Amino acid sequence: MKKAGILGGGQLGRMLLQEAANYPVETWVMENDPDCPAAHLCHHFIKGDIRNFDDVYNFGKLVDVLTIEIESVNVEALEKLESEGISIFPRPAALRIIKNKIRQKEFYQANEIPTSAFVTVQNKLELENHLSFLPAVQKLGEGGYDGKGVQLLHKPDELSMGFDSPSVLEKKVDIAKEIAIIIAISNKGDIALYPPVEMVFDPYLNLLDFQISPADIPEKLTWRIEAIALKLAKALNSPGLFAVELFIDQSGEVLVNETAPRVHNSGHHTIEAHFSSQYDMLWRILLNYPLGSTAAILPSSLVNLIGEKENAGEAVYEGIEEVLAMDEVYVHLYGKNQTKPGRKMGHITILGSDRHDLVRKAHQVKRMLKVISN
Ligand code: ADP
Repeated sequence: MKKAGILGGGQLGRMLLQEAANYPVETWVMENDPDCPAAHLCHHFIKGDIRNFDDVYNFGKLVDVLTIEIESVNVEALEKLESEGISIFPRPAALRIIKNKIRQKEFYQANEIPTSAFVTVQNKLELENHLSFLPAVQKLGEGGYDGKGVQLLHKPDELSMGFDSPSVLEKKVDIAKEIAIIIAISNKGDIALYPPVEMVFDPYLNLLDFQISPADIPEKLTWRIEAIALKLAKALNSPGLFAVELFIDQSGEVLVNETAPRVHNSGHHTIEAHFSSQYDMLWRILLNYPLGSTAAILPSSLVNLIGEKENAGEAVYEGIEEVLAMDEVYVHLYGKNQTKPGRKMGHITILGSDRHDLVRKAHQVKRMLKVISN
């Protein structure tokens, strides 16, 4: 039986492990927190720091194949493991590009992948050299996630609030729609694309608010998005599963926002709504099996369940019984004991053939179900 390691033990690792039970694989997880969402679903849990060279290297030596569920891992250790014959998905070279938002943007530029105009800055002072760029979005090169490390700078007098670290300053895109597409590439070079999904964000928390699949866009835009995802994946030159986030701007132009080299929030719906989920697909890649079918069984909407404002402590799921009583609604809780404002605590997938119904039920679920503290 193959031994597979996952770096990181959050909800993405947890859902990947739920799918692992269908395959001949022995699973290992490394993460600092022994109470993390993935800890009790793996065969072997190793407490360790995914950013530490020795921890990652020693962990990698225990397994045949390695993957990640978060980008902030020690790439140097992965490069050494790869040179010693461990299979790693995504390849460390691809991870190195994506992990840093500056390198990622430069990669798009070098490979003629459409993306918003940008400059790089090393510190806050340098922002002053780019006043003509405003309004712009500043993004930390490393260390940001879920909207932390991203901020909108409208006017020159806001530059004093900018990040004082290496970052990219991107022209603010006049967004018409936010789209994500997941692409899977096997070791043999076979490729499968999931249908693009459409996202609506919470302007306050910057977290994915509600998603609908498939995206409501003209067929030509779907083709354009697929072509961009393919070009990007080819340029990354790595097997694995990649989620590409894109903007369609007000003039209909498609721009890549960012790529995640792993299973992704925008693919949670594939668990119930698609024949092969993103988690199933990644196991097929890791274990060298044929890719699965990305076709949808039914359209879907997806609501993230995030910790309510002003609530921190032991989590209570208010309204859960009402939601569980709804038809065609699937509840996923991530097993996090403690809630805090904005923390991703679970998600709900709604299936149905009628788009209005999917939107209505998504709003209904958002109103009904709240994560509060005890
Ligand atoms: P994170 O990696 O933290 O999710 P993103 O790069 O996805 O950060 O940015 C978070 C959100 O900020 C995006 O979903 C989008 O709504 C907004 N955003 C990011 N870049 C731009 C941009 N260049 N123009 C306009 N809005 C943007």
